[in-house]
Amino acid sequence: KPLIVPPSPTIRQQAAPMAAAAPGPSSPSPTLPRHNRHRDKAVVIMGATGSGKSQLSVDLATLFPSEIINSDKMQVYSGLDITTNKIPHHDRLGIPHHLIGCVDPGEPTAGAEFTPVDFRALGHSVIRDIISRQKLPLIAGGSNSFVYALLAERFDPDADVFGCLGTDELRYNCCFLWVDVFFPVLDDYLRKRVDDMLDSGMFEELVRHYDPDRVDPPVRTGLRKAIGVPEFDRCFRRYPPKRSDTWTGLDPTQRACYEEAVTEIKENTCHLAKRQIGKILRLRDAGWDLQRLDATEALRAAMTAGKGRKWAEIWQCQVLGPGAEIVKRFLQE
Ligand code: ATP
Repeated sequence: KPLIVPPSPTIRQQAAPMAAAAPGPSSPSPTLPRHNRHRDKAVVIMGATGSGKSQLSVDLATLFPSEIINSDKMQVYSGLDITTNKIPHHDRLGIPHHLIGCVDPGEPTAGAEFTPVDFRALGHSVIRDIISRQKLPLIAGGSNSFVYALLAERFDPDADVFGCLGTDELRYNCCFLWVDVFFPVLDDYLRKRVDDMLDSGMFEELVRHYDPDRVDPPVRTGLRKAIGVPEFDRCFRRYPPKRSDTWTGLDPTQRACYEEAVTEIKENTCHLAKRQIGKILRLRDAGWDLQRLDATEALRAAMTAGKGRKWAEIWQCQVLGPGAEIVKRFLQE
């Protein structure tokens, strides 16, 4: 088992204006019918990798007193911050982020894995804690199996999460925002994002993380599954890197091999995005009331001119504005 930072011992449930105290799932009310039970409120931001979930979560948290809970299964681990695309500290604007970089990936050969069951338990504690501080829990991340495990009233850890989707009731009163992007635009963006990540030090980060003596089991676990690790490991084994190697200083033979890894990373990232969208659609078909926000134009603007004024206007008008309106109505209900 990986080492997990224990939840705060001061988990209390108090009446809160936005998210009133409710009997937790472990203590269902014996008297009230299920639909009448008062459930804690939470906002859930879903979407494929690269669609803008982190940006939206921070923007919403500046409008509504909130704290953010990460639901990306690779970002829960400490390490590989560039490779797993963790939101940098300076972009968090001082808003508390939970379950991000909080799990020690441990000995990679020991089979350490933070599971949906772990996420369900820890996530629930964090939600109760946030509510006790009279703040709104904002759950944001691309791992739909984690989101499902956290939210479903009944969760069977032995069943294949996406094989057993039903219209299960949710243990919180949820407002779902789905940040969607026209797939060809997202695909272009994700390929470009990999180049940007390499420019920001992803290669150097993976060189530091590489251990030539490590033998991975046939099925990788935990952070060793993060896109970028297996792809680069393969070529590091052929051309062992030196700790001082940098992406720009590679010799041509190494470079050709490493470029192959980059192509694979781009393919695998786009494939991940496609699978994530497929899972979101399944949740919607299972009855989750997802409010779709179209971030296509904002992403197009970010790609052509960076996150400047034009992007900010489009983001405000097409994503943040409508999203904030939905959250405002949800909190008034
Ligand atoms: P499943 O449990 O069926 O794999 P999921 O929805 O729980 O799906 P995803 O978040 O889609 O989980 O992650 C699936 C895989 O995608 C991960 O095991 C990892 O290989 C890769 N992945 C996901 N998020 C990241 C990330 N932030 N950085 C790098 N790789 C990631």
